[in-house]
Amino acid sequence: MTASMTAESEPIGVKFSFEDASSFLEHDYDFLIVGGGTAGLVLANRLSSDPRFTVGVLEAGANRLNDPTVDTPAMAIAMTGNKDYDWHFITAPQGPKKLQCHVPRGKMLGGSSGINWMVYTRPSTHDFDDWASLVGDESWSASNMKKYLLKHQTLEPVDDALLDRNGIAYIAEHHGLEGPIHTSFNSHPIMPLEEAIYRSGTNFVGSQTSSIDPWAGDHLGFYRSLGTVYRSGPNKGRRSYSARSYLEPVLHRPNLHVLCNAHVTKIELHRNNAVGVNFDHSGKNQYVKARREILLSAGAISSPHILQLSGIGDPKVLEKAGIEPNIDSPEVGKNLQDHPNMVVTYELKPGINSADIFKDPKIAKLALKEYNDERTGPLSGIGSIQGFAPVLPFLSGDDLDEILRGSESEPKGTAFREAQRQQVLKQIQNPKSAFIHAGPAPVTVDCYAEGGFADQSKVFGAIVPEGAPHGFGFAVGLQYTFARGWVHATSADAYAQPEINQNMLGHPADIITASAGLKFIQKLVDTPPLRNMIARRTYPRESELDLRTAEDRREHASGVWASQYHLCGSCAMGEVVDTRLRLKGVQGLRVVDASVFPNHVSGNIVSSVYAVAEKAADMILQDHAT
Ligand SMILES: Cc1cc2nc3c(=O)[nH]c(=O)nc-3n(C[C@H](O)[C@H](O)[C@H](O)COP(=O)(O)OP(=O)(O)OC[C@H]3O[C@@H](n4cnc5c(N)ncnc54)[C@H](O)[C@@H]3O)c2cc1C
Repeated sequence: MTASMTAESEPIGVKFSFEDASSFLEHDYDFLIVGGGTAGLVLANRLSSDPRFTVGVLEAGANRLNDPTVDTPAMAIAMTGNKDYDWHFITAPQGPKKLQCHVPRGKMLGGSSGINWMVYTRPSTHDFDDWASLVGDESWSASNMKKYLLKHQTLEPVDDALLDRNGIAYIAEHHGLEGPIHTSFNSHPIMPLEEAIYRSGTNFVGSQTSSIDPWAGDHLGFYRSLGTVYRSGPNKGRRSYSARSYLEPVLHRPNLHVLCNAHVTKIELHRNNAVGVNFDHSGKNQYVKARREILLSAGAISSPHILQLSGIGDPKVLEKAGIEPNIDSPEVGKNLQDHPNMVVTYELKPGINSADIFKDPKIAKLALKEYNDERTGPLSGIGSIQGFAPVLPFLSGDDLDEILRGSESEPKGTAFREAQRQQVLKQIQNPKSAFIHAGPAPVTVDCYAEGGFADQSKVFGAIVPEGAPHGFGFAVGLQYTFARGWVHATSADAYAQPEINQNMLGHPADIITASAGLKFIQKLVDTPPLRNMIARRTYPRESELDLRTAEDRREHASGVWASQYHLCGSCAMGEVVDTRLRLKGVQGLRVVDASVFPNHVSGNIVSSVYAVAEKAADMILQDHAT
């Protein structure tokens, strides 16, 4: 679907002004939320439910409620790289080829939940349990976090019209029925290509079990995923994201004020108390006070950046950037993690379709009509087939020895870092760990597109001439890595992008597990029925590498990785913030977003961000109960 063929989106009652700085500034706020993104709007909703508190939200992006590009699920990729929606960050050079990689982040009310690809996964049970043990607080364990996973979710029933339910499995007790975020299965049948991926995935030994409910703490295997899409009510067929689902229903509250296009430049400190926030709006610098707390929810890149701009961080980093240090908090911006991806793409045999079919204007028109008339069909759907596998069965004995020996000889870091390292080693050796993610992209993906790593719209926007074979690809994502990266301010200018370095390819053991991930994909594409649909591999070209050999897999894994867009950990709980998410060494300042994850989780992370924010809201309300 092209941007010019947009779906209709009738407004449903947003009368709020998001642009009126003078009325925003008429108030002092008990809670001032910096960043109206995924986590920030959970806080806005929950904290403003208590009429004793005034809540202000400052968001750098625009209000996009009722924008069909955001609302229409199939339009998600059209926002990647479009600076009206995407901050379009670029990483520091990665790996031996020094590739600089585009990292999209949502710049709008709703943040990255407004531009993400809506795949709804939950972490594995051991992920939250590992968090709890890493930070020494049982309240973060899986059994305690379950209520927050349920609290944010409404599971919509499977559409009665959907007859083929292969790959759909869930048990109601693991799902929420009253939460703001609506999750659903696609309303249309899966394509034969996706069916083949699912079947090949479940056919070959090594992809392990098919979960009974992949949202119950074990998502090993292949299954059809839920997406964050409404299937009923006035928003039927639309994206469910924090602006639509958490904010819009409570905009009438008199104690809640939201200002968009408000770029926060600094948190003001009085000694070690956070007292207010400086921001730019319509070319003017403004200041607003917080009576109780400032809640920093600007995401895994901008939260540590704003702290550093405010003089909170590692003095060496700050001085180098020309920022006067105020609070010594050496771990701010460190511990950045991502799910790094290797990409492998294929051309299909003649007559086998992928979602490239929707590039045909006649077919796109039909899909658009169905969407506009019924709010169903392919334009209301997500790329739903997902697969997860352990890494252990794909590692040779020598591979495992190399990882273990390398790990023993590595210089020991802090106790926190050492505990993290042990957790990654445990995942590698756990035959039940969902370590590798096979994320199918059921369209032609052009990894040779010039400048494509620095602008991923070029990779996904490949043109398929009429009659040309269709294509598809896999993002092969590592869910746990040894490498840790960083976000460092490089200038006191709040508009200068910080250095973002996930340090992908920075640790030799990650290259070994990535090679094992490629072995898993090779086995998958060598297994019928998928095998019978593929004409050739297009990236890396078959003439360049043979992914059936260990040597060539290592070579591919050593060269080029991209982000799976799951950045986290840069204001880690246990290091930068305490287990109530209060910034250590500063009063009146909490961080609530993906940056507080102490360690990565398996699977797409938005459910964990919602759960963290729901827990944070409870803790904040408890802390201000009297
Ligand atoms: C393209 C893409 C696809 C993804 N696909 C999936 C998926 O399918 N499934 C999944 O589970 N996860 C997915 N993710 C990841 C997931 O959406 C994010 O990890 C999550 O939404 C992050 O939430 P957050 O609250 O930490 O940050 P965000 O939601 O990014 O919120 C940060 C907010 O702060 C604002 N902000 C930043 N700086 C400032 C400033 N200086 N002043 C004021 N405001 C500021 C931003 O504009 C933004 O609104 C995807 C992410 C992207 C980008």
